[in-house]
Amino acid sequence: MKILVVEDEERVAHFIQKGLKEEGHAVDVSYDGEDGEFLAEVNDYDLIILDLMLPKKNGIVVCRELRASGVATPVLMLTARDSVEDKVRGLDAGADDYLPKPFAFEELLARVRALLRRQSDNKSPVLSMADLFLDPISRRVTRNNTPIRLTTKEYALLEYLLRNPDKVLSRTLIGEHVWDMNFDPESNVIDVYVSHLRSKIDKGHDIALLHTLRGQGYLLSDNSPPA
Ligand code: CA
Repeated sequence: MKILVVEDEERVAHFIQKGLKEEGHAVDVSYDGEDGEFLAEVNDYDLIILDLMLPKKNGIVVCRELRASGVATPVLMLTARDSVEDKVRGLDAGADDYLPKPFAFEELLARVRALLRRQSDNKSPVLSMADLFLDPISRRVTRNNTPIRLTTKEYALLEYLLRNPDKVLSRTLIGEHVWDMNFDPESNVIDVYVSHLRSKIDKGHDIALLHTLRGQGYLLSDNSPPA
């Protein structure tokens, strides 16, 4: 999942970024309200962690303006204290949840998981194609009932592909969703990861699921891709 952290305290921002990256998420960081709002409008995030007290524009205003411009991404608001007033203002501005500082990282992770889960299809949290299954909650991946061990990046890539079945995904799109904004789309990193992922999910199976469309990108499908 791709997450934006808007937090002016660098130490806190980096602590959150590091922890979320370890969970396999792609994380962008912004240090003020204006820049954060801009990033949230131009990129497609799955979740925004938004501090309330920010330079240039506070979190309440950012959240309200994002909602007004049609950005529906879930927002977790960080408040400086457990104040009922801050909580109400945050929720009124369109935040989905709030967390008072200081917080334990485990609690932040639990809130993030809950918001992402709410975001994904509640009825069928397990993603699948043919006999390939991915459970976003246990992070377990199997093909033909055999568990597959993936690195965090391979897992994130597969999850993105499974959320966009039968769609041709360009390297740029994959870069935007699975890597952070410092990712260089000209590099061959995606090709390398796709090739590792393909050998893990397709090798030894009759039906190949991960297809390359030369000059276009990649496709996860249990039908043969168009020639
Ligand atoms: Ca702050």
